[in-house]
Amino acid sequence: MLLTDKRKDKTGTKKGLISQSQSKSILVVDDSQPVLVMLSGILEREGGGIKVHAAQTAEDAIALLNIKDLQKEPAAIDLILMDIVMPGMDGIEACRLIKEDGRYKDLPILMVTMKDDMEALEDAFEAGAVDYIVKPVQKIELLARVRSALRLKREMDRNKEWEKELIEVTCQLERANRQLQRLSIVDPLTGIGNRRYFDELLMKEWSRAIRYKTPISFLMVDIDHFKDYNDCCGHQKGDDCLVAVGQALSESLKRSADFVARYGGEEFAVVLPNTDAEGAMVIADRVQANVAALELLYDAAPITDRITVSIGVAGSYPERDSVPENLVARADEALYKAKKAGRNQTVQGA
Ligand code: GH3
Ligand code: MG
Ligand code: MG
Repeated sequence: MLLTDKRKDKTGTKKGLISQSQSKSILVVDDSQPVLVMLSGILEREGGGIKVHAAQTAEDAIALLNIKDLQKEPAAIDLILMDIVMPGMDGIEACRLIKEDGRYKDLPILMVTMKDDMEALEDAFEAGAVDYIVKPVQKIELLARVRSALRLKREMDRNKEWEKELIEVTCQLERANRQLQRLSIVDPLTGIGNRRYFDELLMKEWSRAIRYKTPISFLMVDIDHFKDYNDCCGHQKGDDCLVAVGQALSESLKRSADFVARYGGEEFAVVLPNTDAEGAMVIADRVQANVAALELLYDAAPITDRITVSIGVAGSYPERDSVPENLVARADEALYKAKKAGRNQTVQGA
């Protein structure tokens, strides 16, 4: 229902201050009981469902609003009409206190002032008031000022809502982007880095090694007779085996810069920055021991009783303008030699 003066606009709708669906609450603060009654009366009669709360002192208003009492909910007030001169706390001080409570920073405060309080208005605006009405209050002026203050509040609330929605959507987008970024570099089966992750990180570490003139080593790890394992134990157990070996490899690395990636089907790549080939052999031994400790047994033992790995190791002090492909190729060659020499062993490349 729309109310106020019963005139109708061109569309035949009764004009009103606000519609009931947007019912608003106004707090009127004035030490004069007749003024309170008069203001409340106009607003309740003409305000289209406005609910008026009256306070006869600034202290009462502060208490009603739970100012700075963050344990309590902020009061659902959309506008305050505040007298300036009151015994005890005056309207300007009350306005300042209300505005100091961050929950009310968008709550419009209209000062209601006598003509001779006009110089106090400067203080009131400084304290955060948005407008004023001069006593004796004229009904039309009161309703016009209240209407525009409520409109302002409504727009600010809407903007805040949009801002909140925007922040929420931005957060969702960022989360989705991080998730996508993660998915693009993680191998879905084993949860360790994939080939792309490997390529990116190796390049980064290679450049760092050039810059700081530090060594870098590389392990190519390949599961032995994995085809047989798949054939005798089934693909699901084959997958479980890849997960377990990936985990064992990760656990073999102690430095934060070391990383492992799934290079291909049952091949894993380990990059060890700031580590020479000798240091890399220590890690390779640890990998062999950790994989053996998994005790991934063949259901039928065609050649060996458990899963083992062969490892090719290569180390390098990268030269300026060099690329890491040669390091990878040398580790690959060493891996081939380890396979030829009977598997379940590590070979250091030339
Ligand atoms: P070698 O000791 O010479 O390395 O022998 P191998 O059997 O391990 O090597 P080969 O390259 O002949 O076979 C690799 C097998 O790895 C074949 C393929 O089915 C299996 N494989 C590759 N990716 C996956 C996977 O994601 N899951 C499972 N279960 N098996 C895989
Ligand atoms: Mg293999
Ligand atoms: Mg292979």
